[in-house]
Order: sequence, then C-alpha cells, then structure tokens
Amino acid sequence: MAYIEPAPLKDKENPFEAMMSRFQVASQLLGLEEEIYNVLKNPARQVIVSLPVTMDDGTIKVFEGYRVIHSTILGPSKGGIRFDPAVNLDEVKALAAWMTWKCAVVDIPYGGAKGGVTCNPREMSAGEIERLMRAYTQAMASVFGPDKDIPAPDMGTGPREMAWLMDQYSRIQGMTTHAVVTGKPLVMGGSLGRTEATGRGVMVSAMAAMEKMKINPYKATCAVQGFGNVGSWAARLLHERGLLVQSVSDLSGAYYNANGIDIMKAIEYRDNKKGSLDGFEGAEKISNNDLLTLPVDLLVPAATEDVITSSNAPNIKAKLIVEGANGPTSSRADSIINEKGIVVVPDILANAGGVTVSYFEWVQNRLGYKWTADRVNRRSDRIMKDAFTNVYKTAQDYKVPLRIAAYMVAIDKVSKTYKFRGGY
Ligand code: GLU
Repeated sequence: MAYIEPAPLKDKENPFEAMMSRFQVASQLLGLEEEIYNVLKNPARQVIVSLPVTMDDGTIKVFEGYRVIHSTILGPSKGGIRFDPAVNLDEVKALAAWMTWKCAVVDIPYGGAKGGVTCNPREMSAGEIERLMRAYTQAMASVFGPDKDIPAPDMGTGPREMAWLMDQYSRIQGMTTHAVVTGKPLVMGGSLGRTEATGRGVMVSAMAAMEKMKINPYKATCAVQGFGNVGSWAARLLHERGLLVQSVSDLSGAYYNANGIDIMKAIEYRDNKKGSLDGFEGAEKISNNDLLTLPVDLLVPAATEDVITSSNAPNIKAKLIVEGANGPTSSRADSIINEKGIVVVPDILANAGGVTVSYFEWVQNRLGYKWTADRVNRRSDRIMKDAFTNVYKTAQDYKVPLRIAAYMVAIDKVSKTYKFRGGY
C-alpha cells in the first residue's frame, strides 16, 4: 500500500489527535485488522483523582491527578509522571500511547502509561510538592506495582519526587519496594546512567542518522530547544561528539552564539539560577521560534509538544530533526517537513533511551544488584542503535518517513503479541 500523509489537523493540535493520525497511517500500511486497531487505539484504563493538599499558608488546595494505562500487552505498563500547569486528560492519553509505542520500538517488555497532575511546581515549595506527590501515590497505590504499572520522572518531576513516591508506596505495602518506580536517586536503588539516559539516547540516534546522511559531526552545527534534563544532556553529549551547539533555550528565551555556546558554563549557570538560563551571558538572546528556524544541520526539540507546527515548518532549515521531547511536531507539520526532505528521528525512537535505562534500573532492583555505568551505557547504546537500524530498514522497505516506520515496527510487535495472548 502506498504511503499516505497523515490527515492535516489544525495547529494547536490536540496531542491525542496527533498521535492517532500517525497511528492510523501506520496501521493502514501494515494492513492491521479493524478489530485489532480498535483494541490498540483505546487506553486500557484511565484513572482520575482529586488530591486535597495543605499548602504552606494553611489553606487546602485540590489538585486533579491522572494515570492512563494505554496498554499492558507487552508487559507491565511504564511511563513518567508530569507535574505541569498544562496537564490534562487528552495529553496524558497521548503520552501513555506514545509510551506503548516507544517501549515496543526499543523492544523492552513493557506496556505504556503516563501520569500527571495539573499544577505548577515552579510556584510550589518543596514541602507542598512532597505532600502532593505522597497524596498522588496514596490515590494510585492500587494502580502502581512492580509487576503492574511502574512510574518514572517526566516534565516537572525528578529523582526527588520518585524518592517520595517509592517511600509512600513502601509504607503502604509495609516493605521497601524499590522496583515500583524508576528514576530514583542513586543511593536508594537508582541506576547509574539514568539521569543522562534520555539525552544520551538522543545523541546516539543523532549520530546514527548523521552517519546515514554522511554529515560529519565535527563540521556540524546544532540547536537544542529546552534546557531541562533531556535538552541539557543532549547538548552536552552532542558537543562532546564534536558538534558545534550554536543555540540553546528554555522558558526564559533562546541563546545564540555562532561560535558555539559553552554548554558546561550554561549548565552551571542554570544550576545556580534555580533552573533558569535567564541572563545567561556569552550568547545573543533570540526568540524560541528563531531557534527553530536557525540554519543548523541538527535541530533537537527537547521541550514540549506541538512546537514545530505548520506555521513555522516552512522556515525550518535544519537537515535533521531528532525529537528529544514527546510529540514536538504536529501531524500537520509532518508533510511540510517531509516535502522539504528533512530527516526526522521521531520521539518514540529518539527519546527512548530514558525508558531503556529505566528498564535496567527495574532489572537491577529485582536482582538486588548494581550495574556499572559502563555496562548501563554500553547496553543502552546497543539497544538504541539496533532500534534505529530496524526503523531505518523498515522506512526503506516501505518507502516511508522514519516516524511512520517507527509506528509500524511498534504496532506490528504489539498487535502480534496481542494475537498470541488472545482476548475473551
Ligand atoms: N518520562 C520518560 C519518557 O517519556 C521516561 C519514562 C520511563 O522511564 O518510564 O520516556
């Protein structure tokens, strides 16, 4: 069957629609039966909870929390928890489905899930965040479990929050349960290499794509949108592989230097400035949209969804886009980017390094053993390279973009497994 562009959708796209339009195209190309299509398109379970939390001023505020389990066909569901003002059920549903496809693309034995709480952690004290995380864990205690559903960090959460989750869950169970959550601090069952894992996977996929495209990393330029965990690690590791990182950005704006940004200095600056690059010197200030349209070889969107849209896609000059974020490109922008001949390593492949090392963390917790950083990195690099090769080959075989190929690899794996497991 010939490749059909995903149906164009309006800009300011609902992330669930963005996910579904690619899922639809890939399912058609695979000739997926309608009944299996229907099984895979609907999330298996959606849980919504109200979380009353006492704020520091003594008032009680009620937050809304979500956990969507998209699929447990390949294994226990896996996926992060997002603390962000924009969190809503549709976003969590899309992110949960992306986790299913992501785990299948890198061939790890997990289904997909995602959680979130609509809140602004930037305006909350550590105590308020801790009480919110404990309330969320308490409410989700029957959903989570080392063999059921295993959360991890996402936007607005990190090792500190995972420690509270693990502690609260362990109190409920009456025993220490490391394997219920990944992305924990190293001292309490975290894995070496987990912090940098997503950024490292972005770097590995970028290097693999550049090799195919015959781009010499030592002569290549790059811009990275987003300077959180994923963006800053990707920038740092790409710089270490010889690329000139000309621009980075965060919520305060974008920073550009034709001769390259000093990434280590930017990381240090951010860490001393409560997480913001605001006022960072050694670079010219540009807008976040300007960053996306810079004449660089490699563009890494590593911030949030729906930033490459049909409005700015015509002006994108990068040869290669490697998606560190989940869903940074709207489905309408896909066709514009494909027509321009820009190669995109899609989110469900490019940012899968994080969940891969989460899997290693879970394996280590269950073994009661610790791997060396070298073992973690070697194994995750191998998984990322193999996944890239597999998706690249599928793209060539079916003459489709890498994004559709990645969905095809994932849907094929999940649907075959579903058939073996069977229904009622
Ligand atoms: N939140 C990350 C993601 O979107 C990591 C998920 C995990 O490690 O389970 O891939």
